[in-house]
Amino acid sequence: DVRAPAPHEAEASPADNASQRTLNALVHEAAEHTARQLHIVRHALAKFDDQSYGLCERCGELIGYSRLNARPEARLCIACQTLQEQRRR
Ligand SMILES: [Zn+2]
Repeated sequence: DVRAPAPHEAEASPADNASQRTLNALVHEAAEHTARQLHIVRHALAKFDDQSYGLCERCGELIGYSRLNARPEARLCIACQTLQEQRRR
């Protein structure tokens, strides 16, 4: 599991504290983004191991080379992805 670096808790003036908080928020946000990306990549790599990479996780069809080329982390074929996005709305 990837953890965000602990926020700095240095003593500082109130003004410095404000900018420090903003900075911490940005660092935290970046760390979360990185952790998410890492999770996606790890998921894709795990599928290389069990030979399911490139197959749709929902219907089992080939995702397709051009789609994987554009989105190597894609988990669903274009049809299932479209369905899922429609259901989310
Ligand atoms: Zn599919």
